[in-house]
Amino acid sequence: MSGPAVFLDRDNTVIEDPGFINHPDQVRLKPGAARAICRLREAGYAVVVASNQSGVARGLINEAQLAAVHRRLRDLLRREGADLDAIYSCPYLAGPDAVVEAYRKNSDLRKPRPGMLFKAARELDLDLPRSWMIGDRPTDIDAGRRAGCRTILIAGSGPGVDNAETGLEFRAVSLAEAATIVVEQTTPPADSGRDQTGGSDPQAVNLLTEIRDLLDRQHRAERQEDFSFLRLFGTLAQMLAIVMAVWGLSAMFESETVDFAVARFALAGFFQLVTLTIFVVERRR
Ligand SMILES: [Mg+2]
Repeated sequence: MSGPAVFLDRDNTVIEDPGFINHPDQVRLKPGAARAICRLREAGYAVVVASNQSGVARGLINEAQLAAVHRRLRDLLRREGADLDAIYSCPYLAGPDAVVEAYRKNSDLRKPRPGMLFKAARELDLDLPRSWMIGDRPTDIDAGRRAGCRTILIAGSGPGVDNAETGLEFRAVSLAEAATIVVEQTTPPADSGRDQTGGSDPQAVNLLTEIRDLLDRQHRAERQEDFSFLRLFGTLAQMLAIVMAVWGLSAMFESETVDFAVARFALAGFFQLVTLTIFVVERRR
């Protein structure tokens, strides 16, 4: 069954954007990016970077250098306990700026076209209508919208970004805030919390349910048995306390010695104390 994903633009979304990065040492995570990616994965999303890398077509970086930059990106994320499910990048560019002829082409992979998202969906079995695209440019939002994803623009207060025209749903000041939006907007499955067996075999579920009910009944019976015993013992103690108290009173009225009366009242007090002790024990159970 296909699952949802969050597609992330790379530059100025996950990492700082000093210009065309062509060396691993230039990779710097944006503050809070690793934690945001962790939260998205914990919420059940695959996290996939989708990045235009026309620097390859422009001759500013080659594919091997780009791979090294991405290894560095993943290393930095893993150091903070995060990771990516995949990184997709488009090295192509149309027009005369593409000085490397092999990469000069008007590719469907290049945002704002949705090709990278479609390719990821095919290869990773992703559910695009339940997925999100997060990026810092209108081209990111356009690609997400054209792929049928929900969209969040980071720091998207600039001109030319109109919600109605671009299909933009949310704006955020950072990837951390965008992750919060995604998590808050994520509706748990209707049966979550009820079916805790993860879709196990129904017969096994029934068997486990029967065992649980049997244990519950046995536990209740044991509690009932103990309760009755305590109650009987407490009742006897209470009766003895009353008998001793009455007997002590009769000793006083029948002119018996004071010592007899005191001894009987003492016994009455003892049995009353036993009764109260049993009462407290029973309440704590
Ligand atoms: Mg960007």
